[in-house]
Amino acid sequence: MKNKLTLLGSLFLMSMSLQAQTDDGIIRLSEFAYPVKRQNLNIPDVNGFKVLKCDFHMHTVFTDGHVWPNVRVQEAWREGLDAISYTEHMEYNPHSADVKVDHNRSHDLAVELAKENNIVLVKGTEVTRQTPPGHFNALFIQDANVLVADNNSNLDQEAIDKAYAQKAFIFWNHPGWKATAIPGSYEWIDFVEKMYQEKKLHGIEVVNGLGFHKKALDWALDRNLTIIGNTDIHNLIAHDYNIEAPGVHRTMTLVMAKDRSASGIREALEAGRTVAWSSNYLFGKEENVRNLVNASISVSPSYHEKTNSKTKVSTKYYEITNNSDLYFELEIKEGKGTKRIVLYPESTQILTAEAGQSKLSYEIVSTYIRSDKHLLFDINLK
Ligand SMILES: [Zn+2]
Ligand SMILES: [Zn+2]
Repeated sequence: MKNKLTLLGSLFLMSMSLQAQTDDGIIRLSEFAYPVKRQNLNIPDVNGFKVLKCDFHMHTVFTDGHVWPNVRVQEAWREGLDAISYTEHMEYNPHSADVKVDHNRSHDLAVELAKENNIVLVKGTEVTRQTPPGHFNALFIQDANVLVADNNSNLDQEAIDKAYAQKAFIFWNHPGWKATAIPGSYEWIDFVEKMYQEKKLHGIEVVNGLGFHKKALDWALDRNLTIIGNTDIHNLIAHDYNIEAPGVHRTMTLVMAKDRSASGIREALEAGRTVAWSSNYLFGKEENVRNLVNASISVSPSYHEKTNSKTKVSTKYYEITNNSDLYFELEIKEGKGTKRIVLYPESTQILTAEAGQSKLSYEIVSTYIRSDKHLLFDINLK
């Protein structure tokens, strides 16, 4: 009797649910659909600052990009980014026969979607001159259209001055671009020196896409300019980055900000609290990279000790943990312990050290604090 009732009951429920769904003659095979989810990029707070994941250089069909503006917000959401900026070329509009030239349009079309997706949209543009002097991004502008320089003899200077007049944060893009094609272009040129002297240059894009511009890092460090890393993406992110593979992320700037807002980002950029993150590598001022490393890596007290019966040497065992989605590769410089440690994102390794030492010194070879220098990192042993 009980079974019969259950059967009747479930038949009733089935007919109810079938009635609720109108049969449109299509069976939905959703197994292969892209799962709707935002990737969380986990990086712990650094000295009370939030670590925001930002890409301040990208293009859409409104200049020489291949996507409509909304796609950039969708990509940023999926990849766990906090902030992006559309930086269309000011003076290069190859799609102008098909898309009306309006340098504000890509930003304006994405504003609402960015709000809905909780992505901070920073208004920007790319001042696109001949190389040298090359390209400059201006962020936090009000109106990109008025930045187009008039046709006079000093175009480069005029474009920069107009951006500066809008209180833009200005950085030099991909300084090494065309370095071999245009000899003398990848130098600290007079035009840039003048910008720097007049305080119209605030940062340098040290990593552009998958290219680390070595000299640019040293220039930024020597002049206390903010270090930036961006994609400069023109196609889909998934076209240029193997984004579905575990641990793969686009090139970006990690901004250590007081809060997750445009004003928080601006304050941090002006204070130089950034680290560029591309592939497995971090690029930045020593202090910033060190703070990021200290927030990410922890070492346990020794949990085991073993003495070799022949040599009488004691070895202590520790756990070293990476609490972030960053990647660290350590090579020993001083002390007797594990020679090489690879700290994959969100993972732990066993570290061994000969007993009787108070510390081990490592070089984190997946960091650059100059073009020829990695961060030195001491591990205090307890
Ligand atoms: Zn450019
Ligand atoms: Zn660009």
